[in-house]
Amino acid sequence: MTVGLRRIRWCFAILWVTGYALPGDPAWEIVGPVSLLGKPRSGVDAVALYRSVQARYRAMQAWPERYDRRHWERLAAQFRTVYYRYPTHAVADDAVYMEAEVYARLFRTGARDEDWQQAVDRYKFLITEYPHSPWGPTALLRVADLYRAKALPEWASYVTECARLFSEARCQKVPDYKSLLAQVRSARSEAPARPENVRARGLSVLQGIRYWTSPQYTRIVLDLSDAVSYRTGVLRDPDRLYIDLDQTVLSRQIRGQGWELPTHAHLRQVRVGQYLPDTARVVLDFDRIKQHRIFILESPYRIVIDIFQRPWESAGQAQSRAEAATRPTETPAPSAPADRTEDAAAREIPVPEANRSGTYSIARQLGMKVARIMLDPGHGGHDPGAIGVGGLREKDVTLAIARRLREAILRRWNVEVLMTRDDDRFVPLEERTAMANSQGVDLFISIHANASRDGRLHGVETYYLHWARDPHAMEVAARENAVSTAKLHELRKFVHLILQNTKVEESRDLAEYLQKHLIGSVRSRYPTRDLGVKSAPFYVLMGAQMPAVLVETAFLTHDREGRLLADPAFQDRVVQGLLEGLAAYLEAQGSLANLTRPSDT
Ligand SMILES: [Zn+2]
Repeated sequence: MTVGLRRIRWCFAILWVTGYALPGDPAWEIVGPVSLLGKPRSGVDAVALYRSVQARYRAMQAWPERYDRRHWERLAAQFRTVYYRYPTHAVADDAVYMEAEVYARLFRTGARDEDWQQAVDRYKFLITEYPHSPWGPTALLRVADLYRAKALPEWASYVTECARLFSEARCQKVPDYKSLLAQVRSARSEAPARPENVRARGLSVLQGIRYWTSPQYTRIVLDLSDAVSYRTGVLRDPDRLYIDLDQTVLSRQIRGQGWELPTHAHLRQVRVGQYLPDTARVVLDFDRIKQHRIFILESPYRIVIDIFQRPWESAGQAQSRAEAATRPTETPAPSAPADRTEDAAAREIPVPEANRSGTYSIARQLGMKVARIMLDPGHGGHDPGAIGVGGLREKDVTLAIARRLREAILRRWNVEVLMTRDDDRFVPLEERTAMANSQGVDLFISIHANASRDGRLHGVETYYLHWARDPHAMEVAARENAVSTAKLHELRKFVHLILQNTKVEESRDLAEYLQKHLIGSVRSRYPTRDLGVKSAPFYVLMGAQMPAVLVETAFLTHDREGRLLADPAFQDRVVQGLLEGLAAYLEAQGSLANLTRPSDT
């Protein structure tokens, strides 16, 4: 403990003696490539505010014994106010840098982990959000020092990467750069590099990228080994969306890789790179940036990016335009540093409904509301779903019911019926939704069979996407999502975001019709229980652009229902109920007359 602390103090002693210049210091004129005073700027308020906080900083530095932790924390918050309020002003990057400096100072004096983290986060925020800031190289080497203070092996990479990220000339202007480089060399000669277990070091691995695309919609999924925090930003000319994954390295397989999308896609390509030694960057290249939404799914951890046809317009765009002339170089318009995923989520803008071309089917041209229905038999392949009495597997029951329902629908109406799977194969939940969105589906019905630890529980329930109101619904969603209920609770921060572009009312209507007729049909021949229409955060419904529901037909774990689910006569009752429910829904929508096959009338 004492040794660790002494080492930390020793590292900072070097920094302190060498004395990094501060924005606004006379010394900065000598060491910095661009003088603060020489920067073009407008907005007297921003400059005045920054200067007043800077003056307070100097006063506190001159009489450190007069000020305690609370004063320094307040000062950090005041620097933060400057760049929150004026994110694109010329003093914004100076304010970020100064906030980082305050936390670095707090760490030097108190050795608290939270101060270390704040300092590292702010320096990194400066590097990624203000890539043209003259403070970039200094911030990078500050991170190196902070890492070295904690004996984290990445510290050396932060020194050696300086020239690549900026330029050798700019790095040379930072005091200590040469001595840090020399220390890296001697450290490396003492302990030759050996392959390290990145996960043991607490790093996540970006293992792969999957995507589904159509002219209207694209979904991209980033597969990660562990949960990460991330930041996103938009850069213009050429347009691109980037996602920085903290504490993440690229897997060997995808290092330096790019994915070119089909020419019809509104996104040109996806690239990945190791932006900082422990920060991976995913870049989406657009011809013109589009509306997008980002959320996470757990177990395994994955980040989902939905991109819609509609052009992107940020809330801060007007401000960016107004202040664009005040910066010598182009920078992104950061709204605030986001350390946690919920911050990143909160920064996403509402996504209006995707435009559909409406040209793909005659039914659509005739103004019909439902031309294409997607049935989703739950589970499949290595995922059997719930296992019921006598070893009955949910994946077999759901496929049998979905196939029968498809036949029944096609016999009755002149519509297209698509299936997410038509055999015993595994299809990830996020892929099922992506299929529905990219194929312009009008209704999405996911078919499942229920399970419970309580063998007495039985009956029918139908779900639509929303936050769960009762613990049972939460348990059902957790089981169907293959995550713990605890993990599902973490999703709460995304539900609002996801629901912004979801047809909640229509989905609930569809669920009501299906539930009512399903109960009626089953009850005509078998005893059952109406468990009602409920809402819960099902992954398979997340991001669906059309009315979408999930039906739990009966309980595999109930003695009688478990046996009935394997019985074709019972399955037919279920199919008949779903068909009648669908008919009632379509009639209420005014679509039925147009869809009925001529032979039936
Ligand atoms: Zn299921």
